[in-house]
Amino acid sequence: MQGILLIASNPNIEKTFYNMLSDVYQVYCTRSEEEGLIALDEHYRNIAAVLIELRQARKSHFTFADHMQKSTRFSEIPMIAISDELPVPEDMDCMDHGFFDLITAYAPRQLVYKRIGNAIHAKDSLSLTELEKMLKALPACIFLKDDEGKYVFSTQYWKHLNTQNDPDWTIRGKTDLEIRKDKNNAIKAMEADKKILESGKGTDYIIEENVDGIQEYLQLIKRPVFDENGRITGIIALINNVTETQQLKIELEKRAITDSLTGLLNKSAAEDLTRIMISGTLKENTRGALLILDIDLFKQVNDTYGHAEGDRVLAEIGRIINNSCRNQDIAGRIGGDEFMIYMKNITAPENASALAERIQNEVSNAFAEDVFAGRITFSIGIALCPDNGRTFDELFKAADKSLYHVKKNGRARWKMEGAA
Ligand code: GH3
Ligand code: MG
Repeated sequence: MQGILLIASNPNIEKTFYNMLSDVYQVYCTRSEEEGLIALDEHYRNIAAVLIELRQARKSHFTFADHMQKSTRFSEIPMIAISDELPVPEDMDCMDHGFFDLITAYAPRQLVYKRIGNAIHAKDSLSLTELEKMLKALPACIFLKDDEGKYVFSTQYWKHLNTQNDPDWTIRGKTDLEIRKDKNNAIKAMEADKKILESGKGTDYIIEENVDGIQEYLQLIKRPVFDENGRITGIIALINNVTETQQLKIELEKRAITDSLTGLLNKSAAEDLTRIMISGTLKENTRGALLILDIDLFKQVNDTYGHAEGDRVLAEIGRIINNSCRNQDIAGRIGGDEFMIYMKNITAPENASALAERIQNEVSNAFAEDVFAGRITFSIGIALCPDNGRTFDELFKAADKSLYHVKKNGRARWKMEGAA
């Protein structure tokens, strides 16, 4: 049973309130503020409210009320003034001393219950502004939206918001689209909110922000808020700045698929992506071409000029292959001096042979002024999809056969398997 501390010097008023409340509350009766303090000390964990009689002749109730308000232990306990005097004395003053309500001894019992219940409940619950203030102490941003996806509060305002540096600007009642400079992310946020409000399920996602030239990655964790009837009343969300970990992740992912010497795709990434591209070629009923390029007599380059010089040649060739390809082509280094290119959508076999010749020319130009002048050439085998094969392995075999043929017959040229 919740307790109520009753401080009343008048036995009649004590009796009236005791009789009204003792069915529902454990009532601790005291006759003075001094006694009240002792009882409060003893029972304060159980005391849900303090009822204090107001008397015109005495002021000690205000001293007591001020003491309660200042105390960290007691300030959360609501104080209610009670009186049997009519008109009620000092009714305005008592609000200044932190009283939550004033109830006369003539009020009907049900109303007294209700008003004491309200006082206890009101002290128990935080206002949204108080909650917002407390959450500001955390390093992450926490925000609350209502059941229409409009902001209720946000503990931090970012530079990607259109606050126009106005200190009085508030996010309250606004939608993402109204306030954000990054409209794409605003739309994404509103779509995510809509899904949460419809489904009652939370969601987590990462967005990339690029405002004022600063790249940031923000992780959003959004959860629906329900009332006691299970109705969704809004969305509570947490934003973590994950820029460093996300950039690291992206870098690691890039490294996992990149050949560090040439910057092209590595063998497994090039093969995997080519397999995906081949299925696209077949599905779309178009034509693709697989080129395998192997540097001629590269061992000699290494033997004559050293491994480091060999590496320089490989890096330069990587750059040339990358620049010669279209954006949609896959280009990778698949062996020491072996490269591959898959062109997904060619209109004629000549597109592939033209690329082979372009790379040959670019390479010979690149090294024209070099000690390698005239020494760096390629042998290139080309296979067409679906003409020479419908899988990566079939196409690779066909292109490799052409490459072998070129190597056997003087190198520095390309050869294409016959178009079907
Ligand atoms: P071929 O015309 O028959 O292809 O002759 P080749 O000398 O190029 O023979 P092959 O393709 O079999 O040899 C590739 C050589 O590439 C072997 C090795 O010395 C060199 N190589 C492989 N990986 C690297 C690398 O990472 N850096 C350097 N500098 N050389 C490499
Ligand atoms: Mg070679």
